[in-house]
Amino acid sequence: MRLAIYDDYRLGTVDTVARTITPVAIDTEPGDPDPFGAGWWVRLCRDLTEGAKLPVIGEPLSLADVTLRAPVLNPGKVIAAASNYGAHIAEMRDKVLPRSGVTGQAWLLDFDVFLKAPSSIVGPDDQIVLPHDVVAEGQEIHHEGELAIVIGRAGHRIAEEDALGHVFGYLIGLDMTVRGNGDRSRRKSYPSFTPLGPWVTTLDDAGDWHELSIELDVNGEVRQQVSCANMLVPVPGIVAYASKVMTLEPGDVILTGAPPGVGPITDGDTVHVRIDRLGELRLPVVTEAIAGN
Ligand code: MN
Repeated sequence: MRLAIYDDYRLGTVDTVARTITPVAIDTEPGDPDPFGAGWWVRLCRDLTEGAKLPVIGEPLSLADVTLRAPVLNPGKVIAAASNYGAHIAEMRDKVLPRSGVTGQAWLLDFDVFLKAPSSIVGPDDQIVLPHDVVAEGQEIHHEGELAIVIGRAGHRIAEEDALGHVFGYLIGLDMTVRGNGDRSRRKSYPSFTPLGPWVTTLDDAGDWHELSIELDVNGEVRQQVSCANMLVPVPGIVAYASKVMTLEPGDVILTGAPPGVGPITDGDTVHVRIDRLGELRLPVVTEAIAGN
């Protein structure tokens, strides 16, 4: 199943061959909070992972006629893995960190997980907005096209062999990043710095994560191209590692790390990421307007 959120927070399943989206019922309850509370979404991630079925409530619509939103709502956490491909660690050490004036932060080259603000999430039909102050300061803002996962079953200290049983599905994620000194959570949490989509593909339709491959181009120039099998810490290992610290909850998002080929984007660019079986994201890049201008 491929699950999308569209228009005014409607829920639909996507047929990628027919290019249609079929409306399905949202399981609301009396007193349910509005969509921004996302209680129904979190419950849905849990229930679908446990085998629940979605009742169809309308005829299929053409995907071209709807506006796709980020296919997650207000996750409690957006977790991201860092330094998870060998060739990316090498490019950071040899090129990106020296060029960005980063000194004394060798830990940036070690595998770890960190948090991004959920308010940085945008959807497939949105745009990437470069913060005007960051642009004015001349700091590079980079694309990191990544495999992302949505958690379906809660757990703390999840064993690696049980990890995939806690995953609801996969999607494409962009981990937009300001290069420079300081904490990742600050450099990666600006509004629009976590594009997600185009929909969540459940494990049965996505296949094995290590058979997926990521390709990212900017204005048609391929910059990142990698097999997910090259991850240093595999998907089950990332889930296990993060859950040693944080209780993973339904709806939580985990980005699995940047492939090699990260680089700067600027106003007017178009960033395009594709993962076979998961779809594609294509977002224009604009600079934030300065208030009053
Ligand atoms: Mn990243």
